[in-house]
Amino acid sequence: MLPKEEFDEQFVRPARETLATAKNNTLSVRAMLGYSNICKNQCLYCGMRAGMKLPNRYRFSPQEVAESARRAAEMGMHRIFLVSGEDPGYTFDDLLLMVRLIHDVGLAISMAAGEFSSEQYQALKDAGVDEYVMKFEMGDPAVFDRLNPSTDFKRRMEAIETVGRCGMRLASGNIVDYPGQTPEQLAQEIMLMRELDISWAPVIPYMPVPGTPLAEEGGAGDRGKCLREITLLRLMLPNCDITAQQPGDDPREGLGSPQGNLDALLHGANLLFLDMLPAAMSNDFAVVEQRLLGGMEQIRETGKRAGLTVAPGI
Ligand code: SF4
Repeated sequence: MLPKEEFDEQFVRPARETLATAKNNTLSVRAMLGYSNICKNQCLYCGMRAGMKLPNRYRFSPQEVAESARRAAEMGMHRIFLVSGEDPGYTFDDLLLMVRLIHDVGLAISMAAGEFSSEQYQALKDAGVDEYVMKFEMGDPAVFDRLNPSTDFKRRMEAIETVGRCGMRLASGNIVDYPGQTPEQLAQEIMLMRELDISWAPVIPYMPVPGTPLAEEGGAGDRGKCLREITLLRLMLPNCDITAQQPGDDPREGLGSPQGNLDALLHGANLLFLDMLPAAMSNDFAVVEQRLLGGMEQIRETGKRAGLTVAPGI
């Protein structure tokens, strides 16, 4: 691996220049709503997997989701990211209603709600979703199948292709430095993101959640590797949105770490989220243990420190 100084000179500096030209030196802010933390699946790394004991499992009604969207619009947001596990408590019509209600509010919609049929993806697109998040998480089929026993790699890649065919922007990516990931696998995953020509890379380093099976196989992923991945993605996919919600050195700060967020922006990331969940519920959306996101004031301060203009993202 290249020493840090050399990597910074050869890659980070050009990545910052690319951010300036492709994204006009702008830090985009989007609203985010984890509208349910109930999931029928068993991904080995996830804190919301079925069977995990969480203090509070919740599910928002379509009307409650629309109310959050209205608040996001009042706060000046242009796009909302709707995210949940695969919650069997919703009918597909519930999801369509949710999307239509938000569309009426006037917000653009990114969504992550799991695997659907091509007819269902098309219906979501027609109702107003223009970007869908379908992560491949691991690029090696055998590793994916072991860590995601509720689906398989072939099905996941078919879903990824279908999202694109339905005319939605495709957000996708990996988990960086999960236990057992080899440098070759990491490189292959980065190349897969380029091949898929993703619109948004929602990538973070592996963050172990106590009580999940994968947490017994290894500790936290190296956030330095994730920063390098962010830099390479900015160079390979100049217009791609890249998540700056990243952990810092202190895991207790979660994804809202001011240091982690700033480092990501300085390595080429451009996107932060404003959490629409009530503060008391923020950690209930427990995909990772400390998901905590910073508020608008912190986002503005982080943008300023990175030398970026903060603006609502579309
Ligand atoms: S990663 Fe997503 S699909 Fe897998 S268990 Fe967690 S919420 Fe469910």
